[in-house]
Amino acid sequence: MLNAQKIRKDFPILSREVNGKPLVYLDNAATSQTPQQVIEVIVDYYSSYNANIHRGVHFLSQEATDKYEQARQKIQRHFNASKAKEIIFTSGTTHGINLVANGFSSLLQKGDEILVSAMEHHSNIVPWQMLAERTGAILKVIPMNEQGELMMNEYRNLLSSNTKLVFCNHVSNALGTINPIATIIDEAHKVGAAVLIDGAQAAPHIKADVQALNVDFYTVSAHKMCGPTGVGVLYGKEEWLNKLPPYQGGGEMIAEVTFEKTTYADLPHKFEAGTPNICGGIAFGAALDYLNSIGFSEMEAYEHELLDYATNKLLEIEGLKIYGTAQEKTSVISFNIEGVHPYDIGTILDKLGIAVRTGHHCAQPIMDFYKIPGTVRASFSFYNTKEEVDILVEGVKRAKNMLL
Ligand code: PMP
Repeated sequence: MLNAQKIRKDFPILSREVNGKPLVYLDNAATSQTPQQVIEVIVDYYSSYNANIHRGVHFLSQEATDKYEQARQKIQRHFNASKAKEIIFTSGTTHGINLVANGFSSLLQKGDEILVSAMEHHSNIVPWQMLAERTGAILKVIPMNEQGELMMNEYRNLLSSNTKLVFCNHVSNALGTINPIATIIDEAHKVGAAVLIDGAQAAPHIKADVQALNVDFYTVSAHKMCGPTGVGVLYGKEEWLNKLPPYQGGGEMIAEVTFEKTTYADLPHKFEAGTPNICGGIAFGAALDYLNSIGFSEMEAYEHELLDYATNKLLEIEGLKIYGTAQEKTSVISFNIEGVHPYDIGTILDKLGIAVRTGHHCAQPIMDFYKIPGTVRASFSFYNTKEEVDILVEGVKRAKNMLL
């Protein structure tokens, strides 16, 4: 069984105080904290081998290049991609989605249909709307039910030979719902559509196997997985990445440049223009090592225990409603108290040292569905404890008494 008390010692930030109280960090869905093991890799990079990669003949450049490419291979193994060149370093999930949406501009025609789920983060809505505007394609929405689950029969009805692309998150950031992506992918492939899965919220909890899923594109951000901000990866099947044009032009992504014509580099460099976040990529590899040393099944079991414990305790508070009650969900609880604005609860919790997120969580369509301005979201990681859940519950009770 996972020993959270021991694990917490790896995270220096968890022992700090906020507003005179011990920090209770429950905003892990927004960004996770960074263990010492990853911080040391970042310090080591800047202390010992900071250099630009791929084009240097000198020792440091070679060392940085080797470490960066080793990180790519680590990420490849983690997601079980068949080739390292199918792993494109990005600045994060948003970048990965925009890269694909931009690439499809030249592959879609007027009247083609793209399906997007009703529970997406804005970063998995807006780029497709922009793509639809550019190409004349039609955006259709896979609806969800009151529990926050996608309506799979409606999805099947929406699919047709006109469907060219399907976009869905693996896990909803606002509700925690784990979507049935294997079925979503299989059904889309039956009509010849490509599928992009936004794995930003799933990747910290679930080890996705991109080959077993047979997914076309899968995007993640390192900062939600104990890694640094500003780095992530897009997995893409080689055949799709070869079909897509480059997203950005610049150094690194070319084979040959003349003023008459430029030819592009092979994968993955075709999509990696400019100097990347070298240290970030290497630290992302270290973060995966860290997570794997704890074990995804251990984390999942422990986080589920926390989720059940917190759900039961919070539901004891009269007037508290949880949004997102899907059978399959990760350790995210979105809630409101009748008659109280979520922002006010969040502000009082902050005074007590408790970090939660309030608002629409970049998923306004979900808030519109429930006809609410936003929610309070507590999201738990493997380094959180039942004692912290108790502090949250007491804090929410206190906020309720103060505000009602
Ligand atoms: N998709 C989902 C489901 C997310 O939760 C987030 C981050 N909140 C993103 C996409 C965007 O990730 P990033 O800001 O790291 O690009």
